[in-house]
Amino acid sequence: MSAVDAPAPGARKPYALPLAGSPFELRTTVDPEPSPPHPAGEWGHVHSIFPGSTVDGPGVRMVIFLSGCHFRCHYCHNPDTWKIGSGQRVGIDEMLKTIEGYAKFLRSAHGGITISGGEPLVQSDFVMSIARGAKRMGLSVALDTNGIMGDRLSDADLNDIDLVLLDIKESDPARHLALTQQPLEPVLDFARRLDRLHRPVWIRFVLVPGLTDSDDTLHGMRRIIDGLSNVQRIDILPFHQMGKFKWKELGLDYRLADTPTPTPQQVNHARVILCEGKQLS
Ligand code: SF4
Repeated sequence: MSAVDAPAPGARKPYALPLAGSPFELRTTVDPEPSPPHPAGEWGHVHSIFPGSTVDGPGVRMVIFLSGCHFRCHYCHNPDTWKIGSGQRVGIDEMLKTIEGYAKFLRSAHGGITISGGEPLVQSDFVMSIARGAKRMGLSVALDTNGIMGDRLSDADLNDIDLVLLDIKESDPARHLALTQQPLEPVLDFARRLDRLHRPVWIRFVLVPGLTDSDDTLHGMRRIIDGLSNVQRIDILPFHQMGKFKWKELGLDYRLADTPTPTPQQVNHARVILCEGKQLS
């Protein structure tokens, strides 16, 4: 999940490539056609593209939101990305042409692309086609992932990813399962593998009052982070309600309707536990 919201549904407009009109918000419509068989990585399902993020990796980045996610995080602000096979089918040539249109700007802004979702590794072949195409343009590539399908990427694949934004949702296995409906262990396996391979990682953690802000969870997160030597940065993302309307539009049961945004004091408390005394590069 990116730190920026995937462009919302609502006033949907057709997804047109190359990009036209506003450079800041490009939406897809849901493609009703069933997906035909296709060569791996030749095309994928794209929810939307946001070309101007400053919070999803270094510099200014084009964030590509791919469709599909197996997690069901209670606080998800992009539940419209969950459905596998939703979004616009986009060919790799078309996708790379879109990126190329921004490549000069992204390079000059010391940025690159960030592939997010949803969970991008649902479409791991397409992720790697995009990543290798962007690398050929001299762009840095970040992958924003919940990590559960990290074993879909080979070590060679990971060499073509410059930075992994690893979203760790909870440090306690039972609470992780309750929060996301998926187990924690494969996420930690991926984190440890990235460490063994010396791949740079930013840890992302969503702080939700009453859900993920207990000292037990926070100290557990710290132990996980302390067990890794490749963490360059820790982002604590304060929960917000900006995705609330999407749950309503999708007819989903939203359990956090009355949950407040954490106070600056709560965020600082979490920051002290997760980050204090750490030497981050
Ligand atoms: S991992 Fe969680 S927060 Fe991210 S898209 Fe999936 S359900 Fe939403």
